[in-house]
Amino acid sequence: MKNQTPASAHIKITNIEVIGFDADDTLWHNLPYFLEVEQKFWALIEEYLPAATQKTESSPRWHLSPLNATEMQNIKRYGYGVKAFILSMIETAIRISSGRIGTNAISEIIDYGKDMLDHPIELMDDVVEVLQTLAPHYRMVLVTKGDLLDQQNKLIRSGLEDYFHHIEIVTEKNIEGYSKLVKHLDLNPAQFVMIGNSLKSDIVPVLKIGGHGLHIPYPTTWIHEQVDEPVIHKHFKELKNIKDCLSLLI
Ligand SMILES: [Mg+2]
Repeated sequence: MKNQTPASAHIKITNIEVIGFDADDTLWHNLPYFLEVEQKFWALIEEYLPAATQKTESSPRWHLSPLNATEMQNIKRYGYGVKAFILSMIETAIRISSGRIGTNAISEIIDYGKDMLDHPIELMDDVVEVLQTLAPHYRMVLVTKGDLLDQQNKLIRSGLEDYFHHIEIVTEKNIEGYSKLVKHLDLNPAQFVMIGNSLKSDIVPVLKIGGHGLHIPYPTTWIHEQVDEPVIHKHFKELKNIKDCLSLLI
């Protein structure tokens, strides 16, 4: 913290050296593309769905569980990201159709994934301004999970690369991952603040190792990222948008 004034010290977060930013749904939109493809996927294989799981007025989330279950089972093998999502869609299509799914449909699923990987980056509001303002005062790192190549490509396409000291792509954003990160950055955990949209991945494990967490909720939370318990912690704050972090850090 370089520009802290004594009058406002009580509302600022002090002694921070490094700010970690989550990327997907914190700096740029991501989840809506997955949800859009899920809709297309289920329309593609609708004829194979058992009647009980077909869309009804009373069950608008009818389509979520079989694919999410496959993804959950595959996370340990494939990790996160678009390529894992493609494989899980193909596996689910084969299972649900009892092997009757055609190669045209499989090709279409692969194309959905390629379109996602090539999708232009849509930054969240005010991201550039916030990074520009923070950059002279802090070292900033991008902390993300998912596919290495995809995340690197997204960072390059986002135009935000120069703001970051480095990009840390972890297999799982958990206590172990964040402990390694602060050690690698040569920090006391209390000198690290993480900013992100997922309580489970960006906030709770950071608080557990002694760091700070600023949560910016995204309108939708991926089903695998939901947490049941509200977070109450002296190192925790919930923000309405990314711009709100400036009054706490500058
Ligand atoms: Mg995120």
